[in-house]
Amino acid sequence: MNARATLALALLATLGACAAPPNRGAPITPISASSTPRRTLRRASGEVHVRLAQLAGAKTLEVRDGANACVKIERAGTALLCNGVRQTHVSFAEGGPWNVNARRYRGSLLVRAASGASGFEVTNTLDLEDYIAGVVASELVLWSASLETLRAQAIAARSYAVSALDDRGARRTDPYLYSDTRDMAYVGAFVPKNERERELEVKLARAIESTRGRVLLEGERVVDARFHAACGGHTADARDVSPEARFECLRSVPCPACRNELGLGRESAGEPWSFTAQRSALDALSARLRIGARLERLRPVALDASGRWLEVELAGPSGSARVRFEELRRAFGADKLRSSAIEFTLPRAGEEIVSTLRFEGRGRGHGVGLCQAAARDCASAGWDASRIVTHFYPGARVVDWR
Ligand SMILES: [Zn+2]
Repeated sequence: MNARATLALALLATLGACAAPPNRGAPITPISASSTPRRTLRRASGEVHVRLAQLAGAKTLEVRDGANACVKIERAGTALLCNGVRQTHVSFAEGGPWNVNARRYRGSLLVRAASGASGFEVTNTLDLEDYIAGVVASELVLWSASLETLRAQAIAARSYAVSALDDRGARRTDPYLYSDTRDMAYVGAFVPKNERERELEVKLARAIESTRGRVLLEGERVVDARFHAACGGHTADARDVSPEARFECLRSVPCPACRNELGLGRESAGEPWSFTAQRSALDALSARLRIGARLERLRPVALDASGRWLEVELAGPSGSARVRFEELRRAFGADKLRSSAIEFTLPRAGEEIVSTLRFEGRGRGHGVGLCQAAARDCASAGWDASRIVTHFYPGARVVDWR
């Protein structure tokens, strides 16, 4: 019996019956799962494997096919209960899209128990271009993004995916991409719910199709084309953010959008923000750094050429400590201390912190590579996708890498 036929039987046995009692006689058997998915991506085509982080903590999985047939999966120790039948893993073969806990996934799915006492390890294997469409829809707001914005994002995302998989394949560590900030946001396929959204689906499909196979190349290497929400005025140099960065094109460039130089007649593309760290959080940080129970002062001690904070010195009653800015950002939360483009603090850098410490800055994210706010605004100013990506990855070229 082939995989699809077995699955069809499994689905027929449980048609519309997610809440039904376990049918122990149903022929639901593990299907064609290899423990290590094959890596098939060598150029910008083929299949990719994506670990679905958003399902890692789920208590149950309900997987439905297009006919709404349903399989309910629960944990049973280190194994799974699939509609009540114990299995080591469950595979949903090529032929989706599959609805999983209200998200839709193309390609195939492999469900296993996560390594802990609860949760699932779900791997979605799908065509690279379907994955890139999902990433673009997850990363950008489709209704406000023009075609050229989507195309620029697609080129960057495809380039990142190819680079990351090649890198991991070469090091024989992890041939997967993750569906969260470890790689790129991916919450499955974009599914239109109304007529307006059907237009967005068409626009997204055009963006993907018209850039199919296109990536950024530096020399003969596909660029690890990172991107972020908003740079605040200048992008960051990748080498300042992660020491292993190795592409010249991931250097700092001025951003015409965040600097309001595009003549669009509106301000604040740089996304200004503020965050006030409370006394308790400051003191907890001081204790963690073993400089005493009270944080007394904080100041930047290394800046990049555009003024982004690279290193920070913190002082308490027992001494001082220097940390990389990214550590400080993680300590307070990346959603609070949104970027290293800090313009002002209160009290001022190095002055005594009496109660709270307020940061004011611009931008959001690590600041490396394509600025998504700029991709949107530059397209409004008439830039095409190629001009956008070659501005933010200077020296790289866009090529068809299939
Ligand atoms: Zn920017």
